[in-house]
Amino acid sequence: MSQIQGKRVLIVEDEPKLAAVLRDYLVADGANVDLIGHGDDALPALRLNPPDLVLLDLMLPGTDGLTICKELRQFSTLPVIMITARVEEIDRLLGLELGADDYICKPFSPREVVARVRALLRRSHDWQRAAGSSAQTGLDLDEDRYEAHWRGRRLDLTPVEFRLLKALAHRPGHVMSRAQLLEQLYVDHRVVSDRTVDSHIKNVRRKFEETEAGSDPIKSIYGVGYKYEPEL
Ligand code: CA
Repeated sequence: MSQIQGKRVLIVEDEPKLAAVLRDYLVADGANVDLIGHGDDALPALRLNPPDLVLLDLMLPGTDGLTICKELRQFSTLPVIMITARVEEIDRLLGLELGADDYICKPFSPREVVARVRALLRRSHDWQRAAGSSAQTGLDLDEDRYEAHWRGRRLDLTPVEFRLLKALAHRPGHVMSRAQLLEQLYVDHRVVSDRTVDSHIKNVRRKFEETEAGSDPIKSIYGVGYKYEPEL
């Protein structure tokens, strides 16, 4: 069965012809597709009735795609593919750390878009599996008690380490920058450096290793940041 079968995809795109072509391709692959043509309608729809994935055009009448993506990330981790009109734009967008999962540049082939949608839905399915069940990844976070267990054994984390791990484990496989992780660290906005993140991460990894020799579910991505990616 296709990864798209029965999934709900929201297309936010103000060019009706383009939106219709995308819709037809995705529907042919088994998706249920909704179209939104005005930026102001996107966030209310995303809140009210979140789809499984959103294709989000950058330039829209009303609220632009950039703002929509940023605000969406305040309340949701659902997969976002950003559509831009210029390839140079992608570097700038990446730098802004909007939290989009993938970027596609116009003009694109609808087939390519369907392939990307399929790939992203598959990845997010894996993350959900990873995040959803401690039996599958072995990580259990008790947010009330600030207690973490790894494969049944207590991980002796400080509150700061707990918050870091929680932020990473919330979206398995998704790379978070040091700046993003820094935001999770201190609620009182103490001035800390990127190096602080590195040293906390080092401690968390050491504690995983101490709890179970050879386990290292936190991966560092050189020059970018970290991700939580346990062996499934
Ligand atoms: Ca547009």
